[in-house]
Amino acid sequence: MNFTDFNLNPSLMEGIASMGYEKPSPIQEQAIPLLISGSDLIACAQTGTGKTAAFLLPLLHRIMLTTEHDDFIRALIIAPTRELAVQIDRQLEGFAYFTGVSSLAVYGGGSGNDFDNEKKAIKTGANVIIATPGRLLSHINLGYVDFSKLGFLVLDEADRMLDMGFMPDIQRILRSLPEKRQTMMFSATMPGEIRSMAKKILHNHKEINLAVSKPAENVLQAAYIVYDSQKIALIEALITGKDLPLVLIFSATKSGVKEIESALKKRKLNVQAIHSDLEQDQREKVLNNFRNREIQILVATDIVSRGIDVDDISLVINYNVPGDAEDYVHRVGRTARAEKTGLAITFINEKEMGKFHRIEEFIQDTVRKLPLPVEVGVSPDLNSPENRHHGEKRKFKPRNKSNFRRPPKPQV
Ligand code: AMP
Repeated sequence: MNFTDFNLNPSLMEGIASMGYEKPSPIQEQAIPLLISGSDLIACAQTGTGKTAAFLLPLLHRIMLTTEHDDFIRALIIAPTRELAVQIDRQLEGFAYFTGVSSLAVYGGGSGNDFDNEKKAIKTGANVIIATPGRLLSHINLGYVDFSKLGFLVLDEADRMLDMGFMPDIQRILRSLPEKRQTMMFSATMPGEIRSMAKKILHNHKEINLAVSKPAENVLQAAYIVYDSQKIALIEALITGKDLPLVLIFSATKSGVKEIESALKKRKLNVQAIHSDLEQDQREKVLNNFRNREIQILVATDIVSRGIDVDDISLVINYNVPGDAEDYVHRVGRTARAEKTGLAITFINEKEMGKFHRIEEFIQDTVRKLPLPVEVGVSPDLNSPENRHHGEKRKFKPRNKSNFRRPPKPQV
């Protein structure tokens, strides 16, 4: 299938060509015709599948059918984080470049000036608004947001919005929107709450499920059993002397992110961190540095990382085992985007074997455990009495026990 098969508006086709997209991805093949026909949709698709274009293209196409260049808000896209909102806006600008459709990203964290600029743009009627829930509500509460001509609503990463406690805000926003509209929900996972919300806000909807609970096949996954105290040395050993231009390291906590950044800096590695203590413009600067390859290693927490839209990430490192399997799949999905091959490595300490095993069950795969490089030292001995105390560990049955002992031969 080709983009020409969708009969999209010619100025949109120009935008698609200028973005360098040649063939639609599977989610785009399925979602675009449905959405062009006007259906409501719930789609289960993880990041990296091309879901953003899957909703942006039909949305822009339909905006151009119903109106040329008027001064009303036609579509609202709600996203959980400012980074994701900016990323969606960036793709939208590319697609809409030749169309005359205007857009505005509305998100918290900026200065008072930013708020006033947003207010002006909202009042003059940007055609598409991409917003985080809290900031949008602040504008709505001030009374000048006119949604009377709105025809399209997108909820992106709905499961993440649920996790972040945004549902009450979203309910409030929904009350200010016209009933008659096309609604699209995208979510990496489909917990019960998302399903029941879909029932309430979608009408005669279609559903697309890309069976997403596994990392894409082009991601090579591996893991090291390692003490926390060995992890920095392991990162250094993994990166030094290799051709790995873009490395993304996830840590469970903000304090962890800062510690990793400073430890790697001490080892003269080219690293920067992104976390919620940074101002919006500082975060964007760090992201741009990463995108432009001025920095090699970016350290981030999970939530902040959601909006990191960088292709060609060579290596993703999970500094800790992620809290749940969906987070693992999501993090691993940061590499190998758009059909490239990528590498994802997880560090498992002696207390996390059970947690990692549950992830393996979820993804129905056993991730290869690699022996530590010699310079890093010896892996935790999982059979030692102190390590046996960890209740979780007992649930773990390694397929090949030799992986968990002193490695026979060093290898990276
Ligand atoms: P998403 O899942 O929407 O976050 O998209 C993941 C990445 O794939 C983004 O960098 C997109 O620009 C890129 N992408 C999406 N669809 C296509 C396509 N059909 N051809 C090439 N790149 C694409």
